[in-house]
Amino acid sequence: MPEIKKIIETGWNLDNSYARLPKSFFTSLNPTPVRSPKLIILNYPLATSLGLNVQALQSNDGVAVLAGNQIPEGALPLAQAYAGHQFGHFTMLGDGRALLLGEQVTPKGERIDIQLKGSGKTQYSRGGDGRAALGPMLREYIISEAMHRLDIPTARSLAVVTTGESVIRETEQFGAILTRVAASHLRVGTFQYVSKWGTVEELRALADYTLQRHFPEVDADENRYLFLLQEVIKRQAMLIAKWQLVGFIHGVMNTDNMTLSGETIDYGPCAFMDAYDPATVFSSIDIHGRYAYGNQPHIAEWNLARFAETILPLLHDNQVQAVKLAQDAISDFTELYHSNWLAGMRGKLGIFNEELQDETLIEGLLSMMQNYGADYTNTFRALTFDKWSDTVLFGTRSFAQWHELWQARLGRQQEPKISSHQLMQSSNPALIPRNHRVEEALEAAVKHGDYSVMERLLDVLSCPYAHSPEQADYSKLSAKSKRPYRTFCGT
Ligand code: AMP
Ligand code: MG
Repeated sequence: MPEIKKIIETGWNLDNSYARLPKSFFTSLNPTPVRSPKLIILNYPLATSLGLNVQALQSNDGVAVLAGNQIPEGALPLAQAYAGHQFGHFTMLGDGRALLLGEQVTPKGERIDIQLKGSGKTQYSRGGDGRAALGPMLREYIISEAMHRLDIPTARSLAVVTTGESVIRETEQFGAILTRVAASHLRVGTFQYVSKWGTVEELRALADYTLQRHFPEVDADENRYLFLLQEVIKRQAMLIAKWQLVGFIHGVMNTDNMTLSGETIDYGPCAFMDAYDPATVFSSIDIHGRYAYGNQPHIAEWNLARFAETILPLLHDNQVQAVKLAQDAISDFTELYHSNWLAGMRGKLGIFNEELQDETLIEGLLSMMQNYGADYTNTFRALTFDKWSDTVLFGTRSFAQWHELWQARLGRQQEPKISSHQLMQSSNPALIPRNHRVEEALEAAVKHGDYSVMERLLDVLSCPYAHSPEQADYSKLSAKSKRPYRTFCGT
C-alpha cells in the first residue's frame, strides 16, 4: 500500500501591495538561502490569528519559509528603501538585512506585513553582512511580546529560526532569522527617502498608500494629507505616552525607526527603566542621552516635524500655507501626548475624575521616586496593593504627607475604594521584562541551548496585569550587579 501523505496547508495568503508602488521604493530580491534551518520558537497565538497552521509551520517546508529557503505562493520578496535621521544626521538607509515577503491577508481581512529579518544582504546593506544573531533576535521576540501583552502597539515576532551558519560580531555567534509581523513597515524615513529623491507624484503615491493601509476612514472632502499628518501625530502621541507609563526606553528613536502605523518597531538597544530617573539611558551608543527616557516625547515631536516637512508639497500649493498647516498640526503633539499621559497616570493612581491639581500630585510622587531612587514599576505596584516593602521612600515623612494628599484626593471622587484598586491593578503591571531576567533567559538559550528559562519568562509576561503569585519573583530587582545596565544595537 502506498503511504498516504496528508498535506496540511500552512495558510499563507500573501499579497504584496508594496510591490505595486513605484519601482524606486524597493528592490525585488529573494532571501539568501541558509544551510540548516531549525525552528527555535514559534508564536502560536499570533500564528493562529494570522490564519496560519502551527503544525504546518513546524514541518520542514514550514520552517524553510521562515528561514527564507522557500518562498510561499503570493510572496514577492523585496527590500524597502528608506532614509532617516540617525542621532540627528540624515542618511540613506533601507532594508539592509530584512526582506518583506508581502502582506498576509488574515481571516479577518486585515493586511499584515510579514518580514524576514536577517535574511541576507541587499543593495542597502552597506558594509553589513545582512544577517542577525540569535541573542538579539530572541531579545526582540521577548520584548515585543511583552509590549504587546502590556497593550502597547508593536510589531510582533512570529518565529525565530537558527540558520546553521555563524555570524561574526564581537565574537562568533549563531545566525538566526526573525519573522517580524507589523501593521506595515512604513516609516518616517520612508517619506524622507521619497521626499528627498523622488517626485511629488511618487510622494503622493506613498501618502495615498499609507492612508489606504492605516487610515482608510479619510473623508473625501477633507485635506487628506493634512488628515494623514494629524492621525500619525495622534497615534504617536498615544504610543509614546504608553511607553512612558510603563518606563519603556526605545533607545534608538531615529526617524527610520518611527512607524506611521503608530506601532513600536526596531527592538535594538531598548530596555525598561528600573529606578525612576528621566535621564535613564541604556544604549551604549547614546552618549549624550538624546534618547533618554525623559526625552522621548520631545524626540517624537522632532521626528514628526521631519515627517511633516516631507509632505509639505502635498499639504497646500502655497508653501507658506503648507508650513502653517504643518506647524499647527505639530504644535498639537505636546498637548495630545500630555493628555494621554495624564489620563494614564490618573489610572495608575486610581483616579477616575479630573481635578486641576492632579498633575501636581503626580509630579510630587515622581520627584520623590527620583530623589530616593525608587523602582518605577514596583512603586506603583506597592501603591496598588497597599503593601509597602521596606524601601527608603516609603519610610519618609514626605511620602507620608504625599500619601495623605492622595487618599484625600481619592476621597473626592464617587467611586469606592475597591474600584480605585481595580483601576490601579489594570493600570500598573505586576512586572516588566526586567533586564537581568531577559539576560538570564538569553544566556540559557544561546550558551546552553536551554529554552526553558525563556519560556517561563514569556509565560509570566503574558498576563502582566494578573498579579499572580508566580509573577512576584520576576518583579524583584537584580541582586547581583550594581553596574549600570548597557544595551547594544543588535547588528
Ligand atoms: P537599525 O539600527 O537596526 O535600525 O539599522 C539601521 C540600518 O542598518 C538599516 O538600514 C539596517 O537595515 C542596517 N543594518 C543593520 N544591521 C545590518 C546588517 N547586519 N547587515 C546589513 N545591514 C544592516
Ligand atoms: Mg531600524
